[in-house]
Amino acid sequence: MTQHLLLAQLNDKQQQAVAAHERHMLVLAGAGSGKTRVLVHRIAWLLQEQRVSPHSIMAVTFTNKAAAEMRGRIEQILGNSVRAMWIGTFHGLTHRLLRAHFMDAKLPQNFQILDSDDQQRLLKRIIKNKNLDEKRWPAKQAQWFINAKKDEGLRPHHLDGFDFNERTFKEIYEEYQIACDRAGLVDFAELLLRAHELLRDNAIVREHYQRRFRHILVDEFQDTNSIQYAWIKLLSGVSNSAEATNYVTIVGDDDQSIYGWRGAKVENIQQFLRDYPNVLTIRLEQNYRSSNNILQAANQVIANNNDRLGKELWTEDGSGDAIDLYAAFNEMDEARYVAGQIEQWHEQGHALQDVAILYRSNAQSRVIEEALLHARIPYRIYGGLRFFDRQEVKDALAYLRLLASRNDDAALERVINTPTRGIGDRTLAIIRDGARARGTTMWDAAKQLVQEKILSGRAGNSVQAFLDLIDRLEDDVSDFPLGRQVDTIIKSSGLMAMYQAEKGEKAETRVENLKELVNACDNFHAFDEQNNDENMTPLNSFLAHAALESGDEQAEEHQDAVQLMTLHSAKGLEFPLVFMVGVEEGLFPSQQSLDESGRLAEERRLMYVGMTRAMQKLVISYAEQRRIYGQEFFHKVSRFVGEMPPETLHHVRLQSRTQHHSPALGRFHSGASHETFEQTGYELGQRVRHPKFGEGTVLNYEGVGAQSRIQINFDGVGSKWLMTAYARLERC
Ligand code: ATP
Ligand code: MG
Repeated sequence: MTQHLLLAQLNDKQQQAVAAHERHMLVLAGAGSGKTRVLVHRIAWLLQEQRVSPHSIMAVTFTNKAAAEMRGRIEQILGNSVRAMWIGTFHGLTHRLLRAHFMDAKLPQNFQILDSDDQQRLLKRIIKNKNLDEKRWPAKQAQWFINAKKDEGLRPHHLDGFDFNERTFKEIYEEYQIACDRAGLVDFAELLLRAHELLRDNAIVREHYQRRFRHILVDEFQDTNSIQYAWIKLLSGVSNSAEATNYVTIVGDDDQSIYGWRGAKVENIQQFLRDYPNVLTIRLEQNYRSSNNILQAANQVIANNNDRLGKELWTEDGSGDAIDLYAAFNEMDEARYVAGQIEQWHEQGHALQDVAILYRSNAQSRVIEEALLHARIPYRIYGGLRFFDRQEVKDALAYLRLLASRNDDAALERVINTPTRGIGDRTLAIIRDGARARGTTMWDAAKQLVQEKILSGRAGNSVQAFLDLIDRLEDDVSDFPLGRQVDTIIKSSGLMAMYQAEKGEKAETRVENLKELVNACDNFHAFDEQNNDENMTPLNSFLAHAALESGDEQAEEHQDAVQLMTLHSAKGLEFPLVFMVGVEEGLFPSQQSLDESGRLAEERRLMYVGMTRAMQKLVISYAEQRRIYGQEFFHKVSRFVGEMPPETLHHVRLQSRTQHHSPALGRFHSGASHETFEQTGYELGQRVRHPKFGEGTVLNYEGVGAQSRIQINFDGVGSKWLMTAYARLERC
């Protein structure tokens, strides 16, 4: 019986959740207990056993990658495609809704998505226009303010702050919104807010979707913010009449709530229990992911938080390896250690893609990347600078956006003088002011200013030539397939030639990226799954894809590679071998979290999330000295390590690294640094004495022969770089 097949790979509690008939269900359970698995199986169950149409199901996940995986797993179980099912992130789904109902949402048909970077640029301009001091009113802060208000569902007219600060930000918000509306631009937070207002204010649309989505399922519910939850509530109809509500399943873990700093509300879990009648709550307690040592250590760490909804995890798995704890001298030593360990793992026949390196902040990745490059270990970064965020790619996309919508001021600003066309800042300022004064878009203003000869001479000609170029490009390419469109645009606009003329490795990469963009367009199936919307031209749906895609897809190059990412972006994932680097006081927990109450608990949850990504082996490291953001820090090991049961930890001895020259470590030590070591005769970590600075520890060295320098952390004096040849050091 198929029924048993679906349930066979689940424990009793999981089975209960998958097959439940209750309308409202909360699956509250710790990491690795199979929450996501339950969600996938429940959807398969609904389709197969309950004969629910895929059309009636909406599933929300946290990343595009998770959504794609979920769809894949369901299709694998069922053996057929479920294209009609809406499955995606909050941003992806609300975007789709707005496209389908652009008129009701009071948006132009070809509205474009403004990413975070462009949002900041636009705000900068607005702040400047208002003659505000940019130091006193940084664009970044305005962006933060506006997004936070939108996440709370607040428009400028809802704000009645009386203090000067709030009032000024409110004014910036007002002008920003006008500029966006005029240019047909929608930022990420706006997607959610608009979609919420659409359902709230339009009964026909609301009732249509309430009838359609009989089943709503949400993963990682602990990290929903106010507006996301309000949107789910509207869709499920719970606020209208308790009788007519749809089926809503939410799964989450309060211990993994890590986006409070961005407005996520873990309280939404309890709010759900209040808002929805007769909620069936299911707790899963068996962990299927991690070996027992890892699980016990993670349980102990999170036990230090208060106000937990409370759950314990156990596993049938054996105790497994202890958690390795490595005390590095500095971040370079840490990176080399990690690379060396990965080489060993690889040589034992394991795949590199089974390894993740997790860090607290993106800035930490550079040193690790260097060590991996040095050791020739392929790697891939998630959530760093996305492909679509790179300068040259954004330039090309801006041309596309302008072709799709002349109203897109942000795009126009970006490319009007890229490559240079003799349209200087002064001309641009005239166009901007003209647009403001006339209440039009910059495109229309530019056109009028040229016609009225306010812009004349060289400037007028250049602007006219630009306007003609864009119009002509559209005529030329509109019948081409997407890839050829982009190829033509990149070439005819002069963008490609501009980057080709630049010298150096960086410029080469840029040219390659532009070519890669053409590839991406060729491979983009505008009418696939998420993108199968009749309301969108292929160009528009590609642009939306570029704006919303979280950067995960760069991983599709089929190379076995180690995965690097922040702790935040590791949520929901699992890897046989996990490195957590930089586990130091001041870095993790971060300095800010130590200064603000409530934040420490969130850092601890982040620690819990990180640890519970590991299946077989977890390696934690910290550096006694670290250079970060151009500054030298001496950190202590993180308090979180002290919260782990000592018997789960194995302190890695330095000697095991320098004395045993295993084949793997031998290679790791070859190259310049090894030669330096041989010539200087000092080991990292060695104690030395200097006639003037006293005793200290060797932290690092660089250079060869007479040029070689050595870095020593002198007790009570601090760290110094000395020329090895003149340092007059003695071994202690
Ligand atoms: P997180 O909180 O990290 O998102 P989760 O609760 O969503 O974790 P899953 O990712 O669904 O957990 O499951 C963790 C791992 O355990 C997966 O590899 C999953 O396939 C496996 N698993 C879950 N339930 C079972 C089961 N009953 N039998 C075998 N394996 C299981
Ligand atoms: Mg999960």
